[in-house]
Amino acid sequence: MQNKTQYDYDLIAIGAGSGGLSVVERAAEYGKKCAVVEAKKLGGTCVNIGCVPKKVMWFGAHIAEAVRDAKDYGFDIEKKGFDWAELVKRREQYISNITTWYGGYMKDKNVDVLEGWGSFVDEHTVSVDGKHYTAETIVIAPGGRPFIPNETENADLGITSDGFFALTEQPKKVAVIGSGYIAVEIAGVLQALGTETSLLSRKDLVLRGFDDMVRETLTDAMIESGIHKEYHFQVKKLSREADGTISIDSEDGQRLVGYDQVIWAVGRETLTEPLALENVGLAVNGKGFIDVDDKHQTSVPNIYAIGDVTGQAQLTPVAIRAGRYLAERLYNNQPDIKMDLSKVPTVVFSHPPIGTIGLAEHDARSQYGHDNVQVYTSVFTPMRYAFTEHQIKTALKLVCVGEEQRVVGIHIVGDGADEMLQGFAVAVQMNATKADLDATIAIHPSSSEELVTMR
Ligand code: NDP
Repeated sequence: MQNKTQYDYDLIAIGAGSGGLSVVERAAEYGKKCAVVEAKKLGGTCVNIGCVPKKVMWFGAHIAEAVRDAKDYGFDIEKKGFDWAELVKRREQYISNITTWYGGYMKDKNVDVLEGWGSFVDEHTVSVDGKHYTAETIVIAPGGRPFIPNETENADLGITSDGFFALTEQPKKVAVIGSGYIAVEIAGVLQALGTETSLLSRKDLVLRGFDDMVRETLTDAMIESGIHKEYHFQVKKLSREADGTISIDSEDGQRLVGYDQVIWAVGRETLTEPLALENVGLAVNGKGFIDVDDKHQTSVPNIYAIGDVTGQAQLTPVAIRAGRYLAERLYNNQPDIKMDLSKVPTVVFSHPPIGTIGLAEHDARSQYGHDNVQVYTSVFTPMRYAFTEHQIKTALKLVCVGEEQRVVGIHIVGDGADEMLQGFAVAVQMNATKADLDATIAIHPSSSEELVTMR
């Protein structure tokens, strides 16, 4: 092993996504010499093929919905068309500006960007395309990629979210397979932009694990928007037909035909094979994740792992926080700083969007006992849709526990949920009670006022 002063770097992060970039950024601010290894583009999934392009498409879909409702507000307009290629071109230019900016930012911070796949040589050495670099500390932050189930015949006739973002032409008819975040987000965007869209779930409602009120409200809204929802559809095989379209057969003999794209959105897997973990005595666990303790340390003391590869909530802000806190512990004399993963707010950019933090009602009842949980709900049509042909409901739920009615869960589905939640998440973080919400003066007229006026 080399002497500490002989390492090339204080810290090398493998992966320049949300986690890797944030740890090197913060470590560099504390004067550490850092490098980040990246085989593709700076910014990782979130910036290039995840949150950012998704949100652009979601904004596009919102504009389509506003155009749809415009006549109900007295506008004499007619939708003459929608240029998918133009939106994609602008979106990619925007993303390219962000990644270019990141390149400059890394230079400003004196962080070296090592281009290529990183793999371990030993616990202090990373090989990047055959060239060796040493560091006192190494952070594994490779993220993941969407997977295609290999048990399905001809599964690779379908694309994943990566393929969705590569589409330069609008597909006419699409089947989205899955029922998680990515499935509902992509299906919502496609339907709003005018693609005939089917959502194939192997069970019933979307978003298993979320609060039932949210799941039911969103599933209904998706169907009302025109999405064909196929329940209990277990995909057996995909077939390419003579006319070029794709057909889908289910295990129980159903057949759906005529799709020009099929999109798999059935989860993501970690990107660990290039790492040569065996060279440092590390391995992934049964779920494909690298085990870490609550300070993100692996079983090799100088090697840490952050982000999707750890199996913690696969969310950009969670990876960013993990990276920053790791740097704080290592280089800013805050050895005990840790993330509270029990109160992670999250938004699903569905149509309408969902904002949720804390426990779903069913989880609260099983954790605290059925009778110790009090729930408040409100379901209404927001004013935006008071006189429009298309009516989209909003549903809100507060989950409170104990005599003091501490708020342990807030679930919102409806227009504005995406921006509404962050402030209420602060209240949950501060252990607010129902009385604290009640004492807060409402903002009128708004949907969020319902959260402070529930009885
Ligand atoms: P998820 O894990 O969220 O959902 C995948 C869903 O697919 C499962 O819930 C499962 O539902 C269903 N599924 C699994 N296998 C099959 C199969 N063979 N056939 C049909 N359905 C299947 O994965 P996603 O890919 O949607 O997203 C990955 C993660 O990325 C998310 O968990 C989230 O953390 C993150 N993300 C966050 C976003 C945000 O913050 N807005 C946006 C996008 C992603 P069931 O078991 O009910 O059938």
